[in-house]
Amino acid sequence: MSVQTVTVRTGAAPVYIRPQVWVEPLATLSAGESLAVREVSGEWLLITFRDRRYGDRVGYIHCSRVDAPASAEAAAITQSLPDNTTRQTATAEPPSRAKAATNGPAITTAMPSSNDADRIATADGYAEWRRADYVIVDGQRIRWTAGTRVKLKDASSVETIPLGYEVRAKGIRQADGSILARDLDARPNGSALFEKQARKSFDDLEHAFVSRGQMFEPTKSGLHDIGPVVTSGPDVDRARRILNRLCPPYISSDALRVYVVQTDVWNAAAMGNGAIWVHSGLLRDMSDDEVAVVLGHELAHYTHEHGRQKYKQMMLGRIAAEGANAAVSYIKSPAGQQFATVGAILALNAWQNGFSRVQEDQADRVGLRYAYEAGFSVRAAPTLWVRFRDRYGELDRVTNFFIGDHSRASARIHNIEREQALNYSAQK
Ligand SMILES: [Zn+2]
Repeated sequence: MSVQTVTVRTGAAPVYIRPQVWVEPLATLSAGESLAVREVSGEWLLITFRDRRYGDRVGYIHCSRVDAPASAEAAAITQSLPDNTTRQTATAEPPSRAKAATNGPAITTAMPSSNDADRIATADGYAEWRRADYVIVDGQRIRWTAGTRVKLKDASSVETIPLGYEVRAKGIRQADGSILARDLDARPNGSALFEKQARKSFDDLEHAFVSRGQMFEPTKSGLHDIGPVVTSGPDVDRARRILNRLCPPYISSDALRVYVVQTDVWNAAAMGNGAIWVHSGLLRDMSDDEVAVVLGHELAHYTHEHGRQKYKQMMLGRIAAEGANAAVSYIKSPAGQQFATVGAILALNAWQNGFSRVQEDQADRVGLRYAYEAGFSVRAAPTLWVRFRDRYGELDRVTNFFIGDHSRASARIHNIEREQALNYSAQK
């Protein structure tokens, strides 16, 4: 095979020692660099590149990163991506597989392999950042081509989808960790069922905590104090500084109120109305990078309206009746007088019962993206979860908002490592 050349299309294109994205890149190439292709291996090109320190080196670059391959073979490979997408998603598509691609608790280093079904991925969230050739939804980089089936409401093109719009995308996980969409739907974030009531109830609960000067939870024997609520001072300032950086561009940090709860427990929580609660133990024991990962997770619960969804589910479900009954007894108790709306009790129940595993996994994905976009290091994120596991164990559920009803700690660590491999492998 004669030597052909390709050109690096996008800046910061990583070159790997193996045709995989989860190993450390050998080097990062800039747009316009010319590369000699030695071999084509699936979607990967084995190329020779010039390393400033070591001279000529050999490594793998993904075909989506290069332009104008002179080799017909390489050109065919480059153009095959959308076609692959159509073919693969049109055939076998077990829902469990699709789910596993984004939410599966047991996945460790499962990257796209020869099995097409493994590569089907979905993203369901909001358009949060837009870059030259992708949009970030659900913490993932979503790419599209002319072949993508696009459904838009109140937007003229994918390129102009306003940030904050609801986006659903389904497609194929690419070797660089991004998702090439086969279907992409976008619509304005509408006002949903019970949104006003949910907000009012969280407002009542926030007011109850602040006016009482204590975060508390109801138990069978009455209200149990969790810790004093602090509304100003160095801890509040630090948490506020970190949160301001984490906010995606379509959310104003003015919409958030930050409180510190004085207790040694490592914890943080976000209410559906923008009240963020951070425990002082977490602030004392964690670096800014670690606090950013935790607060990014909580912020994602808020931006993705998990609190309202849970509230809605409770309003509609059996628990609503139980909650209302409980509410009556709390309101009758002297301590309960201080937060006297049934809605507040429902909100508290919704909050305490925790989010679903799917919501927790989404908060992990999106929160990691927030921390990364804000310039915090996400390298230490798995270690952070190891610290949580060491302290709180492997329980599926503990009394901890941050841990919540989540995958077992070890599964969560694997999920985070996988997210890093897919999306952040270049960050040192
Ligand atoms: Zn959570």
